[in-house]
Amino acid sequence: MIQYDKERFIRHLQAMVQIPTVSSADPEQTRTAEFEKLHQCLEECYPLVHRTLKKEIIGKCALLYTWKGSGKSSQLPLLMTAHQDVVPEGDHAMWKYPPFSAHVDEEGIMYGRGTTDSKCNIQAYLDAIELLIEDGFTPEYDLYLAFGYNEEIMGGPGAAGAILHDELQKRGIQLGMAIDECGGISVRNGRHVAEIFVSEKGYADHEIYINAKGGHSAYPPLHNALGKLGKAVYDLEEHRMAPKLCPPVIQQMKADAPFRKDEAVRQLFSDPEGNEEVLRELAEESALINQMLRTTTTPTMAKGSDQANILPEHASVITNSRILPGETLEDLEAHFRSVLPEEAEFRLIKGHNPPPVSSTESYGYRLLQKIMNEKYPGISFIPSMMAGGTDSRYYSDLSPSRSVYRFTGIFYDGKSGGAHSVNEHIDTNVLCDNVEFYVNLFSRYGEEL
Ligand SMILES: [Zn+2]
Repeated sequence: MIQYDKERFIRHLQAMVQIPTVSSADPEQTRTAEFEKLHQCLEECYPLVHRTLKKEIIGKCALLYTWKGSGKSSQLPLLMTAHQDVVPEGDHAMWKYPPFSAHVDEEGIMYGRGTTDSKCNIQAYLDAIELLIEDGFTPEYDLYLAFGYNEEIMGGPGAAGAILHDELQKRGIQLGMAIDECGGISVRNGRHVAEIFVSEKGYADHEIYINAKGGHSAYPPLHNALGKLGKAVYDLEEHRMAPKLCPPVIQQMKADAPFRKDEAVRQLFSDPEGNEEVLRELAEESALINQMLRTTTTPTMAKGSDQANILPEHASVITNSRILPGETLEDLEAHFRSVLPEEAEFRLIKGHNPPPVSSTESYGYRLLQKIMNEKYPGISFIPSMMAGGTDSRYYSDLSPSRSVYRFTGIFYDGKSGGAHSVNEHIDTNVLCDNVEFYVNLFSRYGEEL
C-alpha cells in the first residue's frame, strides 16, 4: 500500500523551486550552472529513480529519463513532459515572500517561481515513480520523462522540445500517449470537472517595421517612420482576422455549457453552431470569447530611434499572434499583407502552426477518464483548447493515435495560481492527490479498458 507523505513532497518541491532556473531567450545565455544544480537536486531527492531509470542529458541541459518496461504490454510508450525552466521572477518588491524562497505560509500555500509552472509536475512524476519503485513495481511498457530547459521562450533556435523530439524520433520511438503540464480538476456548479487540453493555438512573433530617411528631429516631416508605423499598427488592430468556430472550440463549448453559471452563456455554448452569429458579435467585446474564435495579433514591444532628437530610420513593433487550429502562419501573413500599408514590411521572428487536435476517443483519453472517475465518481470532462503553448506540441507526430494531452491531477480550488505573474503559488494540500494520480497512471497504463 503506497503512503502519500505530504511533507516529503513539499520538501522536494521546495528544493527545486529554490534553484532559479530562469530561461533565457538567447540559447547562448542558458544558465547551465543552475540547471546542473537542479539535476543534482533531483538525484538527491530521488535516489531510486536515479538507480533504476536511465538518465541522459540531451542538448545543453534537457533531461531524458527512460524506465524500460518488461515488454509485456502491447501499448506504445508513455511520455511525460514538463519544463525545468521558469519565467523571470519580476519585481521582487511585489512578492509576498522572496520568489525563490519556496516559503510555505500558515495555510499551506507555497510561494515561488515555478511552483505551478511547472516544477510541481516534475516533482509529482518523480515522486510517483520513486514510490512505485519502493513498492516493487516495474512497468510492462516503456516510460519516458522529457524535461526541457527553455519552454518559456516559445521555441525558436535551440528549443529543447525540438531537440528532445528529434532524439526520440532518431531512436524510432513512437508514443501511445504524451502528457504535459496544464489542465486539472475543479468543482463547478457543485460538480467535479476535469479539464483536459486536447489542442493548443499556434504562435508567432513578427517584427513589423517601416524604414525611412532619418535626420534631425528639428526638421520633421508630417509623419515620420514611427508615426506611420503607429497608423499601421492601429490598422492591424482595427482589422482583425475573421472570427470562426473551429471544431475543438465547438467541442469545448458543448462540454463546458452545463457548468456555466450564466444562463445566457449556457444556452449559447450548448449550441455554438446555431449561435455562431451571436458568438461572433460577443467576440467583439469579450477577450475570452475573442481568443476562442480568432487568430489574435497584438503589438507588445516598440522601438524608434536611439535618441530623443533623432528621427527614426527604422521604426518597429513586435507583434505576438496566437493561431487558431485550422489556420496557419501563411494565413496570418496573408492577412498582414492585406491590412498593412505598402510601406510597412514584416518578418517572422519565430513561430509555429497549431499542432493537430488530439483525439477524445483514444485509449489514453479513456484511461484518463477511467482513473479520474474512480477518484471523483461522476466527474465530467471538458476537452479544451489552450490559448498558450506547451512543449507537448513537438511530440504530436510521434503519437499515431493523436494522444497528446495537457493534464495534471492537480485540484484547483482557487488556492493555486499566478503562473507568469508575481506571487506564483501552489496549495500544498493538492500535492498528495497529484502524486496519487501519476501513481495510478503509471501503474495502470496498458491495462485493458
Ligand atoms: Zn509552463
